[in-house]
Amino acid sequence: MFCPFCGKDDTKVIDSRLVADGHQVRRRRECGACHERFTTFESAELVMPRIVKRDGSREPFNEDKLRSGLLRSLEKRPVATEQTEQLINKVKSQLRATGEREVSSQLLGNLIMDELVKLDKVAYVRFASVYRSFKDIREFGEAIAKLGNEQ
Ligand SMILES: [Zn+2]
Repeated sequence: MFCPFCGKDDTKVIDSRLVADGHQVRRRRECGACHERFTTFESAELVMPRIVKRDGSREPFNEDKLRSGLLRSLEKRPVATEQTEQLINKVKSQLRATGEREVSSQLLGNLIMDELVKLDKVAYVRFASVYRSFKDIREFGEAIAKLGNEQ
């Protein structure tokens, strides 16, 4: 690659190590022309499927939106931020594992709920009630019944 200082393409890697728990490679490079050193980071490009909403419209997967929805459900619940982040990462890797270019918002919601029910039952019911916007008491009953099965 080109040296960011002098623009020559005569750079070499002088050190290379894994960072971010092995999800990134950090490289020290040195320019053969001006001898300046600089750092580059390399990570896999992770392509997330797009989300097909109920009305048929598509939107990119939005991690911030997922996080804020989860945090709302987890308000005042005894769940560590770390656990929330793990849940998000788990859902993301499951999404990628589908290998699909598009998945339904329903599938995404189910992935989240399947993880959330293991983490915190109250948050699960909160999330499910918002996500599914239960139309009647029967649907709500089904969500609660699912809790019974998991315990
Ligand atoms: Zn240079």
